[in-house]
Amino acid sequence: MSRKAREKKEPKFIVVTGGVLSGLGKGIASASIGRLLSSRLKVVPVKCDGYLNTDPGTMNPIEHGEVFVLDDGGECDMDFGHYERFIGVTCKSNWNLTMGKIYKRILDRERTGDFLGQTVQLIPHVTDQIKEEIWKIAEEEEADIMLIEIGGTVGDMENELFLESMRQLRHEVGNENIAFVHLSYVPIPYGVNEQKSKPTQQSVKNLNERGLHPDIIIGRCPVRLVEKIKEKIAHFCNVAPGSVISAPDVHNVYELPLIFDEEGVPDILHKKLNIYSPPNLSEWRKLVARMEEKENRKRVTVAICGKYTDLHDSYASILEALNHCKAHVNVDIQTDWVETTEIENGKRKVEDSLKDVDAIIVPGGFGTRGIEGKIEVIRYCRENNIPFLGICYGMQLAVIEFARNVCGIADAHSAEIEADGKCAGPNQVVCYLPDQIKVTKKGGTMRLGGHDVTIKEGTRAHEYYGALKIRRRFRHRYEINPDYVPCLEEKGLLFSGYAPNSNIMQIMELPSHPFFMGSQFHPELQSRLEKPEALFLQLVKTAHEKSQRNK
Ligand code: GLN
Repeated sequence: MSRKAREKKEPKFIVVTGGVLSGLGKGIASASIGRLLSSRLKVVPVKCDGYLNTDPGTMNPIEHGEVFVLDDGGECDMDFGHYERFIGVTCKSNWNLTMGKIYKRILDRERTGDFLGQTVQLIPHVTDQIKEEIWKIAEEEEADIMLIEIGGTVGDMENELFLESMRQLRHEVGNENIAFVHLSYVPIPYGVNEQKSKPTQQSVKNLNERGLHPDIIIGRCPVRLVEKIKEKIAHFCNVAPGSVISAPDVHNVYELPLIFDEEGVPDILHKKLNIYSPPNLSEWRKLVARMEEKENRKRVTVAICGKYTDLHDSYASILEALNHCKAHVNVDIQTDWVETTEIENGKRKVEDSLKDVDAIIVPGGFGTRGIEGKIEVIRYCRENNIPFLGICYGMQLAVIEFARNVCGIADAHSAEIEADGKCAGPNQVVCYLPDQIKVTKKGGTMRLGGHDVTIKEGTRAHEYYGALKIRRRFRHRYEINPDYVPCLEEKGLLFSGYAPNSNIMQIMELPSHPFFMGSQFHPELQSRLEKPEALFLQLVKTAHEKSQRNK
């Protein structure tokens, strides 16, 4: 179907590709471009991932980074976290196009007879399907800008079909309606001490071989690109002078939209696509400056206790939520990592691991490795008045700790421990959610996405959120066993948030403690630079007050 036949509103397209190596920050660069345009235009980010998984929900976070859960229940690539935080949109799961989803649709269609008589092929069928999905999103969302990020680097076998679709799309929409942005790497080799353009030249050549030509080249480099190298890249890669942009290493990723603005990205896109959307960055600029204030700032140390502490990307949104607090509390936050397996197997003592720590986060997780270490950390926080936030599994483990050490249920445990093949006895204080018992399929089957939380009046949760009803995002199979709630509450734990019309406990607090809170939801997913999530903000504030008193 032609573009004219199907559209009411004509969107513009921005396609972001990457070259040379992965990990250059293509997600943040895309999100920053989105931020620059979103003041007046509806920007819809789409991420194309070449792998055959339907979504990253079943992938190991050590390899793939955190799974970002959307309000509609989608388990998505972590770049969606950057998109939501920078662009301020609530993303949808069909905006994450994986090759797994595309192939599944094609194969389903083949079985229902959509291609009778035809040989189903990569081109045109797969490439058409990709474009079809993108058009569908554009129409559903009435997008002004479709911001399409192609995962991986140009030359990877996995993303060839996405690139080919973009080449075809350019012919469909016309060159004036689509801009290609290529993020590349500009190294400064040791001993040479000058910025080198060759990797970028080669990577653009790779792109050219696929019939694509960049309108903007972003050069990732430890520092801003010097004029000479910008000119050289423009000349050799055949882009307009002035369209080579710096993406220097930044200590604070929220600076990037400000840098891109200074480097003239809005003007270049304006000229290419004829869109007028001057960015409104004044508030953002102020917040970034506050985050970076160093004078008269006390430092607090917040430790994250988990088993994926080697790869910080698996806790990306938690780190961002803490970062957001720096713009709102006059404090510098240092993040520390505590590998709970070391506490569990006796390599380190809990009091040594936590002696310089002002607050603890026990994040979400799965399985049993390291959990006894986490329970030990939680006990230490509860007994020593250390501010504690337990997220999802972290809250479930806090309830197990409380049941064991305060309620005297020595064998209290979670059904997840038994599901892991260990026999743990009858006291499952954390049990299966009722509708999870019969679930055998793995992908996308947990209790996922945004749900309402009813908050009890007069509780800490009420004070922090300033509301009796909030909506937060979930990703879990187990819950606090409602049968044990009376016994836990009798001993002083309070369930201050729950699911309306059901007895799923969603917020836990210990009123006798300065800050001992748990949430069955993932508060980090909805924290924004402009508005840090209340549990993080309060954790940091309490840690700050506490460390002030100690110093
Ligand atoms: N493993 C726990 C559950 O499934 C917690 C999940 C999580 O922390 N996201 O309920």
